[in-house]
Amino acid sequence: MSPEELRTLDQTDPLRHKREEFLLPEGVIYLDGNSLGALPKAVAARLERTIKEEWGRDLIQSWNRHGWIDLPQRVGARIARLVGAGADEVLVADSTSVNLFKLLLAALRLRPERRVILSEVDNFPTDLYIAEGVRALLGQFELRRVAREELEAALDEDTAVLLLTEVDYRTGYRHDMAHLTRLAHQKGALVLWDLAHSTGAFPVHLGACGVDFAVGCGYKYLNGGPGAPAFLFVARRHQAALKPFLTGWMGHQEPFAFSPLYLPAEGVRRMLVGTPPILSLSALEAALGVFEGVDMELVRQKSLRLTELFMALMEPLEARYGFRLATPRAPERRGSQVAYRHPQGYAIIQALAAQGVVGDFRAPDILRFGFAPLYLRYTEVYEAVERLGQVMEQGLWQDPRYQERAKVT
Ligand SMILES: *Cc1c(COP(=O)(O)O)cnc(C)c1O
Repeated sequence: MSPEELRTLDQTDPLRHKREEFLLPEGVIYLDGNSLGALPKAVAARLERTIKEEWGRDLIQSWNRHGWIDLPQRVGARIARLVGAGADEVLVADSTSVNLFKLLLAALRLRPERRVILSEVDNFPTDLYIAEGVRALLGQFELRRVAREELEAALDEDTAVLLLTEVDYRTGYRHDMAHLTRLAHQKGALVLWDLAHSTGAFPVHLGACGVDFAVGCGYKYLNGGPGAPAFLFVARRHQAALKPFLTGWMGHQEPFAFSPLYLPAEGVRRMLVGTPPILSLSALEAALGVFEGVDMELVRQKSLRLTELFMALMEPLEARYGFRLATPRAPERRGSQVAYRHPQGYAIIQALAAQGVVGDFRAPDILRFGFAPLYLRYTEVYEAVERLGQVMEQGLWQDPRYQERAKVT
């Protein structure tokens, strides 16, 4: 496609007005919204109000007056629409890692006669680390980490919980959630999906897929800001039987009865532990405003076109400079990112960032480009590949300062 054709695509893009709702730095093409979402304009004003009027002026009365106490459920209800869940099935709390811990423990308690937590060896490290910690804590379980191709065969009557991330953080491979959930259920296992690279990038159908539990991230495609609280999903049918392990007072039926005895709250609220982080929750709530009224099917369509375009433009560079595509070409098998392998991946990503194109690097050799459909333009995809071509042609990545690894990659 020519630059003119891409300009026309931008001008007729049904999501084109969404970009104006973000504050994006001048001259930067941001292909890392899958790692830290861009800043929605509404966030600063909302934080200013929450800080000055709510915290500053109304102080502790804000818990009631400004509904602080209900924020975990209120924000959860807004996320629910994006993941195909009921408003009463999603709660915002803690980090993704902590929510994994809480839900995995609670899920295992629903399958005490079984032995195995099944996951993928290439699952995101925190998912595996948390599962290993849970295994060590409970003792009687085994953590089985298998290759993706072996998952289906490994599912059996001994599987208590199937723990998977829908979209692979390195390659962008997307699992068939409906199929794997069905298979797990046929074996009597429960499923826990990590939606870190799904939520906000395309429509997720937790209810239609019959998913039991899920967790997801607030700071990636949901744009909630660095370290934004995460969310968790508990299917309604499991809520009454669910026994939290972290039985904190905010998950109590009546936190302000100050009873010495623990009684779980009704519904998903029992998965709360401590006092919710009001500033972060307010930022996330304001950020979610950009999804208001947005048809997630349109988001998916644009995401597929952006990633398709990127892969097509990259093709000549693959052979010339030794990039190897790591992302599936089949649209139904990929999320909203495209990854390439290259032995000099780290330095190339640094040199490219110096040219105003921000992607990221994942060890050992993955260059990762995320495509957030709400604020990216087709012409930017074109420009990004142009600049990558220059970085390679001029050997800009060979500059020694691009070899030095920073603490965060
Ligand atoms: C980003 C990410 C997380 C993040 O977990 P935190 O607890 O928020 O640090 C978890 N799982 C996956 C698959 C991720 O990509």
